[in-house]
Amino acid sequence: MAMTAGNSAATGVNTGSNAVGDIPKTPCEELNDKNNSQRAALASDPQSQSIRSNFGPGGVTTVVHGSLNGGPAMGAASRLLPSRYSHLAEGLWAGKNKQQRAAMKKSGTSNVCPGNQFKYEKAARPHQSHCESKMLETMFSGSPAPSGTLLLNINWQSAADPNSKLPCRACKKLLCHAQKHCNLKIELCAKDPKQKPAPLKC
Ligand SMILES: [Zn+2]
Repeated sequence: MAMTAGNSAATGVNTGSNAVGDIPKTPCEELNDKNNSQRAALASDPQSQSIRSNFGPGGVTTVVHGSLNGGPAMGAASRLLPSRYSHLAEGLWAGKNKQQRAAMKKSGTSNVCPGNQFKYEKAARPHQSHCESKMLETMFSGSPAPSGTLLLNINWQSAADPNSKLPCRACKKLLCHAQKHCNLKIELCAKDPKQKPAPLKC
């Protein structure tokens, strides 16, 4: 049976004619589920009131999950998080003391990408602490450099749009650099995760 994106199939209601049962989730739905459960875990952090409020309903924070060429999901959350969240991509924030982190912020250097390095602009809240940076810097920290299609499901809980699926201006610059110079095609999930993801426009 034909289905259009965004129809009531999202409820998973079995019509009876489909003996197999559950409709398989789209890659964007799977990444969406991971965003939701990661945000819920952060919003109920057992130790930090500031993490709870930043990732709770009113907090301006970002959680992203992505998949390179359909491989296992990689997740990231914005801000400087304690080591109990080290399963998330840390990028240039990983394993650095305060001094090293200050030097890293000042230099603006990036792993993205070999032969044509990105340079970060200075900012009050460093762009290296954004999810998309944490993921790309982690991916490009080893060799060979990654290539192919990176599918990103961004959950940016901004004040203007509580479920923005778009990168912020700074992350867009980084993602566009990767797309232009680093053999990476980037696709973004839509608000409705049943919809086909769209190529990042630069
Ligand atoms: Zn950003």
